[in-house]
Amino acid sequence: MELFQLSRASNVHEAIAAAATSSDTEHGAQVRFLAGGTTLLDLMKLNVECPGRVIDISRLPFDQIEATPDGGVKIGAMVRNADLATHALIRERYAVLSQALLAGASAQLRNMATTGGNLLQRTRCVYFRDTTMPCNKRTPGSGCAAIGGFNRTMAILGVSDACIASNPSDMNVALTALDATIHVEGTKGSRRIAIDSFFVLPGTTPQRETVLEAGDLITHVTLPPPPDASRSLYLKLRDRASYEFALVSAAVVLKVSDGRIEHARLALGGVGTKPWHATEAEAVLAGATPDAATFERAADAALAGARPQSQNGFKVELARRCIVHALAQATRND
Ligand code: SF4
Repeated sequence: MELFQLSRASNVHEAIAAAATSSDTEHGAQVRFLAGGTTLLDLMKLNVECPGRVIDISRLPFDQIEATPDGGVKIGAMVRNADLATHALIRERYAVLSQALLAGASAQLRNMATTGGNLLQRTRCVYFRDTTMPCNKRTPGSGCAAIGGFNRTMAILGVSDACIASNPSDMNVALTALDATIHVEGTKGSRRIAIDSFFVLPGTTPQRETVLEAGDLITHVTLPPPPDASRSLYLKLRDRASYEFALVSAAVVLKVSDGRIEHARLALGGVGTKPWHATEAEAVLAGATPDAATFERAADAALAGARPQSQNGFKVELARRCIVHALAQATRND
């Protein structure tokens, strides 16, 4: 680990002003916010992240979960994953989010990890975490060891010739299916960013993963009210039953009315370079009869653009089955 300066922000403006002084270096921005530390500290120990200055924001007052007047919910950026997963409002109205959080990491990590930090969780690509290997995301222009290398766990959707790393978060997949909005404070004031616009595809600049700019601080996330009588669930397929990242996952929010699908949201994890919003599948589902044939057509639509690598072709069929099963579960009468 490289030497760094540690300071603690006593308010939002102090944090933003300090972070806005950052500039890019070989290893990334010189200033990093520290919340739960479950990603950042790991990467600093590996010298993948080498910030010159770390600003502890863990005492900023963003630790509340509140119902909003429109029937939705406001989730502070410092809310711990464990607290979010077990909150009564989340369990009752946003089951997919609670299930996704509980499917991720370990109890100890969920006790530390925060909502804002989880949004910025970095890839688990083994080459990204190994500074002896080429990696365009860690060191732009150095190449991608995963293309032609060990790529079994990598993405099949949204990949580029520069990077094929998958986004590892379960929470982000659920937030995508729930139409979340990310609220940010920065040097230019407040911004609201729809989650679909928050993450960016790797393209030729895989080092850039979100639209956040230097000095931007995530303050909270809002969710709209779920449609009345809708059902939601998170299905995660992985190599072992716990403490493991998704090979494929599906977050579903569905409302069926008079034998037709009135509202459909489908997001995928483990297969996309960002939390994958399966809009083509949603178009198939909208207004259709909720049966196996519809679900299979939706899965085919979601995966039509898949670009598997040498070792992860199995993800196409696994994702197809995951989608069909999740949709069937969400519409099951019980
Ligand atoms: Fe780096 Fe992305 Fe290639 Fe992994 S897939 S080695 S993160 S450029």
